Amino acid sequence: MASIDQDHRAADRLRGISGTIFSEMSALAVRTGALNLGQGFPDRDGPESVVEAAVQALRGGRNQYAPGPGVPELRDAVVAHQTRQYGLDLDADRHVLVTTGATEAIAAALLALVNPGDEVVVLEPYYDSYTAMIQMAGGIRRPVTLRAPDFRLDADELRAAVSDRTSVLLLNSPHNPTGTVLDRTELEVVAEVAREHDLVVVTDEVYEHLVFDGGEHVPFATLPGMFERTVSISSSGKTFSFTGWKIGWVTGPEALVRTVQAAKQWLTFTSGAPLQPAIAHALANESAYYEALAKELEVKRDFLCDGLRRLDMDVYLPQSTYFVTTDVSRYGYADGLEFCLALPERAGVVAIPSQFFYDDVEEGRHKVRWAFCKEQEVLEEGVRRLLAADLRA
Ligand code: PMP
Ligand code: GLN
Repeated sequence: MASIDQDHRAADRLRGISGTIFSEMSALAVRTGALNLGQGFPDRDGPESVVEAAVQALRGGRNQYAPGPGVPELRDAVVAHQTRQYGLDLDADRHVLVTTGATEAIAAALLALVNPGDEVVVLEPYYDSYTAMIQMAGGIRRPVTLRAPDFRLDADELRAAVSDRTSVLLLNSPHNPTGTVLDRTELEVVAEVAREHDLVVVTDEVYEHLVFDGGEHVPFATLPGMFERTVSISSSGKTFSFTGWKIGWVTGPEALVRTVQAAKQWLTFTSGAPLQPAIAHALANESAYYEALAKELEVKRDFLCDGLRRLDMDVYLPQSTYFVTTDVSRYGYADGLEFCLALPERAGVVAIPSQFFYDDVEEGRHKVRWAFCKEQEVLEEGVRRLLAADLRA
């Protein structure tokens, strides 16, 4: 499962790296005609004005290579956004790098900052591209588990995971798949550890605007003294519901941004030239969009969680993101994968087995992730199907 058949001549750096479970489960949904509550993408596109801005750019001659660091108006818009939202004071020429989604930013940051044999401390469950890219960079992952039911960061576990071989601490908050938003106290522990061990912190904040219940996302770079050692990553995909555009960005101190760019320029060089000005428009003019989106997602979270609670599973209410995690062990399957493979036939629904995001096999074994970034009718139909189905093994 989740494997890509590799030629026997494949390089060692690919050994054991599987196919992404997200694509695999989406393909299963297409094959079986099941409702896709797996892969995290909304089924409604973002603001019309942003699409219009992209059309204007396509028609207006913005179709050749963008500059290496990204088009100036997008870098300016990222700076204005960071100032307005978080009070950060950045320079568009020195502190911003536009990337092909957060995915390329993560890849470039790890290739740029991890030497073969270095250890990378990463929150578990982890986003799947982290483990693939840590391995391709020659690094060794040292997971720190966020444990059910609360999925909080344990300071002692974090300290225990760091050694004198650690070079990078890879954070993700708001956190996929648990929905945890690290609070200031947790982030201060990370800052202390980073300072003590002189680590670079790479922080993936793509869900920065999708926080619920009036909660606050604190960017790691805003902690005292942390900007200088932090590579911050975000993306327009989740904020503006354009996951297929793959416009992301890195912000940080000049030396770190240039280092990440040194790797990034050899991956894609640049991409999305006409989409970059459209996302600049979005950042400058469409903050109401993501504010409304967060409120809408909060209602959908509650709807889906209420539905799932009527089944025989533990439901862990997320503070953010598109996803809710459940524990399905009472259904009697060997693991979440077996449950998720039976689900299309039993209920006509697809979900994601989270076990692929864990080194701690027991902690991950029966965790299943469900996406609620879908139209209300889809969620209603999904819940109806699940309640009507016999889900026992
Ligand atoms: N990081 C996390 C935690 C994600 O959930 C995703 C998916 N949006 C990404 C990175 C990838 O972002 P992008 O689509 O911008 O490459
Ligand atoms: N971020 C999306 C998720 O967690 C998936 C993106 C992908 O398929 N790589 O579902």
